[in-house]
Amino acid sequence: MAHPAVLAPDPDPTTAELIAARPHLSMHAMDGLLMEGVPLNAVADLVGTPTWVLSAGSIRGRLLALRTAFADAGLPARVHYAVKANDHLAVLRIMAQGAAGADVVSGGELRRAQLGGVAPDHIVFSGVGKAEWELRLALEAGVGQINVESAEELEMLSGIAHGMGCIARVALRINPDVDAGTHAKITTGRADNKFGIAYGAATGLYAHAAGLPGIEPIGLALHIGSQILSMAPYRAAYSRTAELVQALRASGHAVRMVDCGGGLGIGYRDEPAASPAAFAGAIRATLGGMDLALAIEPGRWLVGSAGLLLTSVALVKSTGARRFVVLDAAMNDLLRPAMYEAWHGIVPVSAIDAVQPVAGADVVGPVCESGDTFARGRRLPPLARNARLAILDAGAYGSVMSSTYNARPLAAEVLVDGERWSVIRARQPIEALWAGETVPDWLG
Ligand SMILES: *Cc1c(COP(=O)(O)O)cnc(C)c1O
Repeated sequence: MAHPAVLAPDPDPTTAELIAARPHLSMHAMDGLLMEGVPLNAVADLVGTPTWVLSAGSIRGRLLALRTAFADAGLPARVHYAVKANDHLAVLRIMAQGAAGADVVSGGELRRAQLGGVAPDHIVFSGVGKAEWELRLALEAGVGQINVESAEELEMLSGIAHGMGCIARVALRINPDVDAGTHAKITTGRADNKFGIAYGAATGLYAHAAGLPGIEPIGLALHIGSQILSMAPYRAAYSRTAELVQALRASGHAVRMVDCGGGLGIGYRDEPAASPAAFAGAIRATLGGMDLALAIEPGRWLVGSAGLLLTSVALVKSTGARRFVVLDAAMNDLLRPAMYEAWHGIVPVSAIDAVQPVAGADVVGPVCESGDTFARGRRLPPLARNARLAILDAGAYGSVMSSTYNARPLAAEVLVDGERWSVIRARQPIEALWAGETVPDWLG
């Protein structure tokens, strides 16, 4: 039955188009949707749903593509993978094997990066509010660089490093005051965002840092936001950074490196993804030829499209003109649609479902919130209970943002590599939900 009234106006890409645009996915006439050489039905049969599935081959390919783009531009740049996008130890191992370093924003991420095999001097510690214990941990580990975001943090770090008898290599994270043109919740480089040091205050603070015990200023850092698809904001931000480098050098300060941040966007729907070649070009045009060591901190671009959330239909209900497809996955698993109004491709796992006529459906989770909606008016085939779907491009800011809201255990995670696959995180048993809780005796 068709529900023309609830179709999204602008036609979404079809299942075939979504799959064709993702080289690690294919539809097999018998086995259904494959990731690399692995049928997702086989994963769901053994592990159940909801389950995150990640392609190792895709991550390696993206890392290589990024490196190649910078090499082709004649721009040697270190890649520090932004761990917060997907902090699984197996992902960090793949990054370390690909000679990527890590950009971490907490003591927990720092330990994860080390456990994943990232060498400490390839670790950059970023973040707007690092705690004293986290700074200590970073200095004890001997991280390569600490990105300082305020005068207050600089004083604190100086005191700690001096007390420990070591020198912290510091980059000042500046706020270039440019609008990255992305979602308000993921823009970070405007003057009214909490991030970084005001552009006008950077020169003074750099000079101050140079005189502080325990501090060695080595350069500047910036990160203007996430899911950025246009090069214009990057160019604007890096131009302003280049001016600052010149001003600092003119005042006699050594500025050896610029950490260009991350934020490269991917194509979730049909928007063209940011091109690593264009990114390298924007950096070369603004900061090239300045005798600077350069680094980038991509997260989403490396892992976003590599992952999907495998889910089953719990039931289909119709109310008035709307068809609701209720999944066993929910906003507690994948928060992006609820939090950022993000669009994710949703495709059937069964080859038969994939060729049925489509009609509009609202795809929702079972959590008691209307925001628990993955898609509205999405063109989907008739779907029976237990039909399987894949929610695409869930490799970044997916499992890491999960919660156990509604006492829903954390989903399992699987890594695929060619024909091989393994469970890399067991589904959380429900007893684990309350394992750390105590009811005080005095409650009786
Ligand atoms: C989140 C973050 C990144 C990565 O952002 P992506 O959009 O995932 O590339 C890089 N650097 C810093 C400082 C961050 O906070």
